[in-house]
Amino acid sequence: MQYDGLGVDSVSWAGRTYPEIRAVGESDGSVLVVPVGSVEQHGPHMPVATDVVLADAVARGAAATASADDVPVLVSPPVWTGSSDHHLHWGGTITLEVATMLTVLTQIARSALQNGFDAIFFLNGHGGNSPIVSAATKTVGTEHPHVEVIATTYYFLAEPVAEEIRDSRYGGMSHAGEFETSLMLHLAPELVREREYAVDYREEPKGGYDGAFHDFFSHGPLSVYRAADSQTGPGTTGDPTLASAEKGAALYEFLVEELADLLGEIATSVDDSASAECEGDSASAEREDDEVDGA
Ligand SMILES: [Zn+2]
Repeated sequence: MQYDGLGVDSVSWAGRTYPEIRAVGESDGSVLVVPVGSVEQHGPHMPVATDVVLADAVARGAAATASADDVPVLVSPPVWTGSSDHHLHWGGTITLEVATMLTVLTQIARSALQNGFDAIFFLNGHGGNSPIVSAATKTVGTEHPHVEVIATTYYFLAEPVAEEIRDSRYGGMSHAGEFETSLMLHLAPELVREREYAVDYREEPKGGYDGAFHDFFSHGPLSVYRAADSQTGPGTTGDPTLASAEKGAALYEFLVEELADLLGEIATSVDDSASAECEGDSASAEREDDEVDGA
């Protein structure tokens, strides 16, 4: 088993004491990563917490790599529920209303940032959360103008290698399909029921408005809401039969490297802007002194 619980590694907020957390937060260029998951059906073959496990594992792997390069970074406990109304139909789903989830994310940020972090990074694991995570980024950014506030949905970081790794055609790498199942086979294989695999390919939209996109790595210009009762099939969107632990290991390694590099860049950037701000402060302090002398 590659994935383990809360607080077990040195970059986990949950396993640290408050003086240790403050020491990291007050370091120059400090970054807090907040994994955001969901509890929703992932077909008959994967656990409902799949998005929590994957976002948390990528966050912790990347933070450990960045931390080894002296980036001051911690990973908060993952937000275990998200916005999954469209999955309620199958069962197994626990969801928040949009406004509640926005409040949860902004209040997590508001309290966590009291420890002095220079940047906060929401690492989202579930497509249905994306607009709310973006709204939280804007809300927290408005409240904290001196903190860098960033978000992404983690699987977009894998776009450069996903096309090389995949064996499925369009529609194979979506909800509980080849991509997520491969990662789970690598990170938590004991949680995957390989005998229960169910395949469900959706067709690629043909025009500007021809329904939703059904692959992690295809995007269109429209956001289209689909009511829960329009969802049918096994709950999978994609092809878990083409998943493998080897593909999962390659995807995980790539995701960890990409995110670790980003964390390093963010740390350097916020550290530079903080020192520029300090120089600005001391320059204006000197001017004030001059004025006092002149008075
Ligand atoms: Zn998922």
